[in-house]
Amino acid sequence: MPITSPQTGEQIGEVQLSSSEQVAAAVQAAKESFPAWSGQTLKTRVQIFFRFRSLLEQHIDELTELVTRENGKIESEARAEVLKGIELCEFTCSLPQILPDEIQEVSVGVECRTSHVPLGVVACITPFNFPHMVPLWTLPNALALGNTVVLKPSEKVPLSAMRIAELLQEAGLPKGVLNIVNGDKEVVEAICDHPDIEAVSFVGSTKIAKIVYQRATQNLKRCIALGGAKNHIIVLPDAHPQMAGSDIAASMSGCAGQRCMAASAMIAIGESDHIVEQLCHYARQIVPGENLGAVISKEAKERIEGYITEAEKQGAKVLVDGRNTTVKGKENGYYVGPTVIDYVRPEMAIAKEEVFGPVMSIMRVNNADEAIKIENSSAYGNAASVFTQSGKAANYITSRVSAGMTGVNIGVPVPREPFAFGGWNESKFGVTDITGKSSINFWTRVKKTTTKWNPEDKVDWMS
Ligand code: NAD
Repeated sequence: MPITSPQTGEQIGEVQLSSSEQVAAAVQAAKESFPAWSGQTLKTRVQIFFRFRSLLEQHIDELTELVTRENGKIESEARAEVLKGIELCEFTCSLPQILPDEIQEVSVGVECRTSHVPLGVVACITPFNFPHMVPLWTLPNALALGNTVVLKPSEKVPLSAMRIAELLQEAGLPKGVLNIVNGDKEVVEAICDHPDIEAVSFVGSTKIAKIVYQRATQNLKRCIALGGAKNHIIVLPDAHPQMAGSDIAASMSGCAGQRCMAASAMIAIGESDHIVEQLCHYARQIVPGENLGAVISKEAKERIEGYITEAEKQGAKVLVDGRNTTVKGKENGYYVGPTVIDYVRPEMAIAKEEVFGPVMSIMRVNNADEAIKIENSSAYGNAASVFTQSGKAANYITSRVSAGMTGVNIGVPVPREPFAFGGWNESKFGVTDITGKSSINFWTRVKKTTTKWNPEDKVDWMS
């Protein structure tokens, strides 16, 4: 399958799609390498991630360029993605210090101990929007905790994942411990059905997250499946106008709006024209091809522009219009300019569905409860943020929104390591979160061992 540059529309490579036999071969390799890999101590395994972290730093320019080339985001965003990968790797290196194994004397001479042990062969399925970072949400922790892995990156951006694998190999990861397969539906189904895969992590759209979660759990696998999002920003009239305007513009347009944490719906409470003006001011300073990257494909561009046109037809007012954008010298690239639409109504498709482009829909309400009601009616629940200078209002709103990651005066409220990443509702299926401390419970199971150390004392312990 050809790999296309979103910035130019040109073919930049090709990817060999795997068959279900190749998936089986990858699982077999992972299965064979599991006893030796899981037999090492956690401390020994993380040494590879200290070396991998150094390699990420050494190759930062090259990795940044690769993300830009296959995903279309701008250089600074790609670099931030690689830096976030380094942070994720640092968390992995800290696992021996924080692994929550416990030991306690529960009766005289008798102790109970818990050990987090690896699951076996696990699979990670990733989306196109963070070709470097999302594989590193899961791979380092899954591997360091003793599992062997089959990774299936998005077929649209397979190059970064392959480079990660090469660097892990250079860092000393033994053969067979990480295996990459490429493809989409057929390969994902083969993963969900394979009896030797114990757990599946998935990141992508809600439609596919549901399919993967249902199929993997029906096959009695552990699964976490992160889906799409519709993130709300609730703005009070007392918000700092410049900060709110610039942060909200950055949130809606960063990575061309193709972030599962991008704000795409602003609920303006009361008299908020001064903040809308600031938002438009900052949105107009975003220049496609300079500080705004391309969207992933021609279809994505058409879908995003379709949402804007439909909202306009239904009476919304387009204040900043990013349709029909071209970038000089990159006329075949897939660019959508920053777009701000006012007087969107909650029942419109653009207010409810994931647009996944640099588009902000503004809905007007009279009070905080109306704003919360709109946010609560969303099927998704990744992020919700409030802009205000009142602590009381911020607390009232953040405690009532239905989202897993909330913020106060923050456009993109992503929790940093060691805090875990994960939404609610249809933005995540499964119990744990995907990163941070919470991920330890996903990638391991807990063995409870009870030991009587002085049998000669005839301690009475249910024996
Ligand atoms: P996608 O759902 O189209 O693809 C995700 C993965 O599923 C890819 O590896 C793809 O090959 C595979 N896939 C595609 N069609 C399939 C099918 N019919 N059956 C089985 N597997 C299939 O998502 P995408 O377009 O690559 O990524 C964008 C989406 O990911 C957005 O909805 C975004 O919100 C979401 N996302 C969510 C998070 C989060 O943390 N919640 C993070 C990043 C991206």
